[in-house]
Amino acid sequence: MTSRRMVSLVTGTLVMAVLLPILLSIWLARYQAEQRFHHELASYTQRINQLASVVIDESKTALKDINRIDSQTCDPAHLQAMRRVAFTYRFVQEVLFVKGSQALCSSLEQESHVSPFPAPERVNSEGYRFWFTPSNDLGINHYMIAMSHRDHMVVLDPRSFIDVLPLASWSIDSAVIGLTRNRVVVSSAPLSLAVWQHMRDGNLTRYEEAGIVYSMLRNPQSNFAVVVWASSHPMKAASNQQLLLWLPVGILVSLLAAALMLRLLRRLQSPRARLLDAIHSREFTVCYQPIIRLSDDKFVGAEALVRWPQADGSLLRPDVFIPLAEQTGLISEITRLVIDKVFSEMGDWLHQHPDYHISINLAAEDIADNALLALLTARCQRYQVSPRQIALEITERGFADPQRTAPIVEQFHHAGHPIYIDDFGTGYSSLSYLQNLTVDVLKIDKSFVDALEYNAVAPHIIDMAKHLQLEMVAEGIETECQAQWLREHGVHYGQGWLYSKALPGNELQSWCETVRGSTVARAAR
Ligand code: C2E
Ligand code: MG
Ligand code: MG
Repeated sequence: MTSRRMVSLVTGTLVMAVLLPILLSIWLARYQAEQRFHHELASYTQRINQLASVVIDESKTALKDINRIDSQTCDPAHLQAMRRVAFTYRFVQEVLFVKGSQALCSSLEQESHVSPFPAPERVNSEGYRFWFTPSNDLGINHYMIAMSHRDHMVVLDPRSFIDVLPLASWSIDSAVIGLTRNRVVVSSAPLSLAVWQHMRDGNLTRYEEAGIVYSMLRNPQSNFAVVVWASSHPMKAASNQQLLLWLPVGILVSLLAAALMLRLLRRLQSPRARLLDAIHSREFTVCYQPIIRLSDDKFVGAEALVRWPQADGSLLRPDVFIPLAEQTGLISEITRLVIDKVFSEMGDWLHQHPDYHISINLAAEDIADNALLALLTARCQRYQVSPRQIALEITERGFADPQRTAPIVEQFHHAGHPIYIDDFGTGYSSLSYLQNLTVDVLKIDKSFVDALEYNAVAPHIIDMAKHLQLEMVAEGIETECQAQWLREHGVHYGQGWLYSKALPGNELQSWCETVRGSTVARAAR
């Protein structure tokens, strides 16, 4: 993956990393508040269900208790026993003695005035009969639950079913609904029948409508359902409170993630990462600057110079990125790329013109690369180009350690590649390496060519090259005067803007076609 893609990926991740913890903290605050609220409702429903079961169980015990007494004739002992049961069992309001459907006496009256009971609304599997009735011996119009077994009946206040204090700080309402007739037996506040029917039909344990949250629990054994409900407002208030707790955590995590991602982003956008991308996507191009024989101004070859095209269409010069590639250990990859391009662009042309050559610049690290010679040899063979046509330019820095480099340079030379010393005289190094190395050509640096008229260095370089029997190429010739001076002093070849700037491969080939026959200098002028 290119670092540009990585940058977009990391940027996307950065946005996510910043947003996600904040969104998560908002969600968490809401979730926690909701969970707590629903848990509170559910546990309140449970507690009402438990209490209702206790009331029914206790009523059964009360009935068993009264049914056990011997005298059942409404005599004082019988009445006394019924009153004792009504008094002892806290949920029992009244105990009646019923024969058939008629109540004969009760814990309240020696002679009961209650009108005959209709058929029971429900008879459970244990034989207990149930009514929901306003009949009682006090004549108070209040619906009660009557439960009977054998000849006794206990009367219960349904309000005791929901007599449970909510643990929450907010108000909760509740209702108990008898499932036989779908009748609200008791409720702390009116329950919407539509809501109840909706929950019953959908068998929903939780439901929310118009800002009210409902919770339902069925008790199939006792054939009733408990519904509790509360406004969702406290849940929202709790959610905001939770947010105050979680949001700072979310923001902190966001900031940490952002810092981490920015660091990664900065690393991905580093010049080395960009250079590596350019190598992998083979963005580099090669231009060729003609080298001219000064004696007759004839084209003899060209120097391959690497270029890095930028997104804005400009070409980045090698002075900028070659040092970076050298520092970051990427130079040999660039050199291989240049060699590949030189052969793919100019291989056939060199094969057709065996007297032309291309010189390739090598960095100090390239000389240590043992596989480079094999690569050059393979390419020369594939394109049927003589190694003589591929010269290698090595700067003085490349010869810094002659003991180590000399044998390798010798191998290149032995394979047939001419060796050029590039930028000669600018490396401030000892000239002793010249004695130990097999060098063919010395390139006089542009700085000496620029200063021919007032600097006395160039003549000394020329004398030395002559003494060592090296050919010379003068770099950076910009004026005819310079060319004339160099020619007169016996410099063999030259390159520079006087003749041509570095050109793309195809342009160099057509440039050579144009100037063929005429001398280069005349054609360029
Ligand atoms: P160099 O090998 O000494 O190449 C000559 C430089 O002088 C080139 O600059 C060329 O464009 C420039 N030049 C030639 N004639 C003139 C002229 O008349 N006037 C002026 N002002 N400049 C002229 P460029 O292409 O920017 O290359 C700079 C240096 O980068 C090269 O110096 C070489 O050391 C290095 N380089 C270029 N290509 C490669 C490469 O493929 N590998 C390596 N390792 N280094 C390279
Ligand atoms: Mg060069
Ligand atoms: Mg040079």
